[in-house]
Amino acid sequence: MDLIRFNVGDTLKLKKKHPCSSDLFTVMRTGSDVKIRCDGCGREVTLPRLTLEKSVKKVIPKEEQDA
Ligand SMILES: [Zn+2]
Repeated sequence: MDLIRFNVGDTLKLKKKHPCSSDLFTVMRTGSDVKIRCDGCGREVTLPRLTLEKSVKKVIPKEEQDA
């Protein structure tokens, strides 16, 4: 399995949707716990990195978001 890498500012597409129906989250802070913000409703969630990595479907790097 590939190691999932992401940085602050990247957008993550998760396998599981947020209750607001968005599956896109922006990385706010990384570390052993990662803070992400739902792009749909703006709610912030902190998850252990391992838990989050398992639920990431796709990483959309910051540089690609405006392309
Ligand atoms: Zn949401």
